Amino acid sequence: MKKNPPKTIQDVHDSGGLQEKNIGIVNLGCVRNLVDSQVILGQLKRQGHRIVSIEESDVAIVNTCGFIEDAKKESIDMIVDLLELKKQGKLKKVIVAGCLAERYSDELAKEFKDIDAIVGVQPLQKEGVADQELLTPGHFAYVKICESCYNQCSFCIIPRIKGKFVSRTMESVIEEVKQLDARRIKEIHIIGQDITAYGMDLYSEKSLARLLREIVSVTKNIQWVRLLYMFPAHITDELIETISGEEKICNYIDMPVQHISDHLLKAMNRNITKQQTVDLIKKIRNKIPNASLRTTFIVGMPGETQEDFLELGEFVKEARFEKVGVFVYSREEGTLAHDMPGQVSEQVKKERMDALMMVQQDISRGLQEKLIGQTLKVIVDGLQKGEDHVYLGRSEYDAPEADGIVYVHSKEELAPGDFVTVKITDAYEYDLVGEVI
Ligand code: SF4
Repeated sequence: MKKNPPKTIQDVHDSGGLQEKNIGIVNLGCVRNLVDSQVILGQLKRQGHRIVSIEESDVAIVNTCGFIEDAKKESIDMIVDLLELKKQGKLKKVIVAGCLAERYSDELAKEFKDIDAIVGVQPLQKEGVADQELLTPGHFAYVKICESCYNQCSFCIIPRIKGKFVSRTMESVIEEVKQLDARRIKEIHIIGQDITAYGMDLYSEKSLARLLREIVSVTKNIQWVRLLYMFPAHITDELIETISGEEKICNYIDMPVQHISDHLLKAMNRNITKQQTVDLIKKIRNKIPNASLRTTFIVGMPGETQEDFLELGEFVKEARFEKVGVFVYSREEGTLAHDMPGQVSEQVKKERMDALMMVQQDISRGLQEKLIGQTLKVIVDGLQKGEDHVYLGRSEYDAPEADGIVYVHSKEELAPGDFVTVKITDAYEYDLVGEVI
């Protein structure tokens, strides 16, 4: 039982702990955390606070990530920096929120006595639309449709941090999408921990495909709907049909596979086999021939042998994913894998990560070069710094920040959110170059 259970922002406000006017936030971790930060700011603004930069703020909130070692370290470093600003009198208060706070509220309270409040993860509002202060550029937004997940992967601490799987009502999501559409947002990213489980709690069935058809039917300005974080074992034929049948839904399949050797998929509790994974990829490629498949792998999972790793390397060569992220296994207390035999050394993990990224780099360069001479629809994100006629853009195959960039040469002036047709003239491992036609 936690001695210092984390509060909510509302508790802090109601207890008079937030009299100061000017509030700033630092968002760490994933885009799901970003949405939580937007909701926190929306709430505070509604209560009369001014949302400002950290430099101008009296109160700094840091929305932390507590997922794996590196992320925890980054969050702790930020807390130390903000407490240093407080010591120098540049800040009046420091509030620590998010996953690290939820997971380690006791330890944080003991270690950092100068923290003014520890706030847990932002509860997902199931009904209606939460006020949000968007932290994304004005032409795209993230829509969080559910929280946590059912899957209990043995290496993952998230379900313990986020609690029970929760879906928002379809009415609530549709209302938010309509509001974003009315604000002339051009692109939305549908997020959660496992969006493919959407509706299993509320409607007793996987309802993402139905939700997507509804979203497409109510949007005018929104031209791209991108799906992030799909759990392979939960991807249905109906969902694949819907993605291939609805032009607005990006042919972008983000599904973390994590590994391919059967005994590791079992140890990870991924609820899928190698053959099922291979069949799923084949089905997606058949149904959506120009799909861009994005995935992530974890190397160094307890029990991973050199043979398992070589099997993964062969699979990556055969599957030819367009986008791949590789992570080293992070031993997290409170997870099943933490106590599994056959822990792999940090050095071997690092070697395997580098080796797998090298394999993927060649594949990625080859796939990118095939796009030279082709035309792509590109959304403009902004002007390339220091350049007059070069813009930063993305095709439907690129999620913001996670994937590559299309460098767009244009004689005409372009604005963020513009869609242009670009002829690709050059390609790198991850980025493309082209000109507006
Ligand atoms: S699907 Fe697995 S890895 Fe992803 S959040 Fe759920 S338990 Fe964690």
